[in-house]
Amino acid sequence: MTNKNQSKLAKIASLCKRRGFVFPGSEIYGGLANTFDYGPLGVELLRNIKAHWWQTFVRRRADIFGLDGGIILNARVWEASGHTTGFIDVIVECKKCHKRFRVDHLPQGAKECPECGGEFTRPRKFNTMFKTFIGPVENEASVAYLRPETAQAIFINFQNVVNVFRPRLPFGIAQIGKAFRNEITLGKFIFRTLEFEQMEIEYFIRQEEWKEHFEEWKRLMEGWIVGLGAKQDLLRWRAHTKEELSHYSKRTEDLEFNFDGEFKELYGLAYRTDFDLSNHSRYSGKDLRYQDPVTGEKFFPHVVEPSFGVNRTLLAILFSAYEEEEERVVLRLKPQIAPYKVAVFPLLANKEELVQKARALYDQLKLKFMTAWDSIGNIGKRYRRQDEIGTPWCVTVDFQTLEDDTVTVRDRDTMKQERIAIEELEAYFGEKLE
Ligand code: ATP
Repeated sequence: MTNKNQSKLAKIASLCKRRGFVFPGSEIYGGLANTFDYGPLGVELLRNIKAHWWQTFVRRRADIFGLDGGIILNARVWEASGHTTGFIDVIVECKKCHKRFRVDHLPQGAKECPECGGEFTRPRKFNTMFKTFIGPVENEASVAYLRPETAQAIFINFQNVVNVFRPRLPFGIAQIGKAFRNEITLGKFIFRTLEFEQMEIEYFIRQEEWKEHFEEWKRLMEGWIVGLGAKQDLLRWRAHTKEELSHYSKRTEDLEFNFDGEFKELYGLAYRTDFDLSNHSRYSGKDLRYQDPVTGEKFFPHVVEPSFGVNRTLLAILFSAYEEEEERVVLRLKPQIAPYKVAVFPLLANKEELVQKARALYDQLKLKFMTAWDSIGNIGKRYRRQDEIGTPWCVTVDFQTLEDDTVTVRDRDTMKQERIAIEELEAYFGEKLE
């Protein structure tokens, strides 16, 4: 069924391709390193993750506002934020096998290539923002960057949101969107890619309260991903050392996930102080201070920034949900985020009455839930196919259905079957999905 010697990540990558979650990027042209395309099931999973996040952190909270800022911003933004000079990776290349490594990813003082033992070139600094030009002339004045994080669009719209909505501190502005980084090291599957999505909140606070907000966001970040299905025992927090801290941060902790025995950053939580707002004020000449509505005092709020990667969320969730049993591979995804909620089968594909009845049920359920149709092979095989993509419930229309309008509903996790009246199905699934 599966190759026992493969790592779990390799098995998941293979399932993702085979079942239409994630495809290697530009594959028919020989591929493009660190790029992937999301197939029909992957896009559903991504959308469900993002919708759940937005629901939790924006719609259900009175203190967080949504934003959808541009990918291309005025290049001055990146000067003020420090990215033009500070968003740097230091890289070395192996002279023998020509693999490139980020120095911060190698053991301290490493002198030889970990892959082939070859000698390294001298370390080279490298800005990881993608550079492009606006208009036909390529010169310094027309330079633009694809954003390497979503955060800056939030800072430059801070005053707009404050002017329109008059929020009181603490409050946040949230955004989901693509970010781009010129990553030169090969990532594992979708872990490190050239373009990815972030879900970020800039939470504006009073300076003296930063520690308690930091702790609260740690709790919220971990609670959210565990609630979505990540295994708690595969998670840990790790504080950045002084040398590791980004140019804007006073304290950063990463929520790490254990992929195949190696803890890697899933999310970052940074205390960005008032670095961004005060710099944008300086560079733009606009007063971006917040005015306390009671005391009239003007000051730059400080910021705690929870940053969630959408794609790493998807990977951690697949990693937690993937299980191999004797008879089947099953993705135990939470029903709320599973690509398909329900699959409908006619018991036999060559019995017209069964097919028609099942098709009518499929058409009905599809209006309410993401529903799959399968009439190929025996029922056992169809169950296995749905188990492998995480569909929580399979509904079979059989001969009894033609007599009494009931169907069997089979549960992915318990593999138990129940007989349920068709007219009760929507309420039955609706309740389970709440
Ligand atoms: P790393 O050390 O792995 O390069 P980072 O510390 O540079 O990551 P942040 O700047 O903190 O990452 O970005 C916030 C989040 O965005 C990360 O926690 C991660 O989920 C996601 N992310 C960052 N870079 C990538 C990437 N190249 N591919 C996929 N997701 C990414």
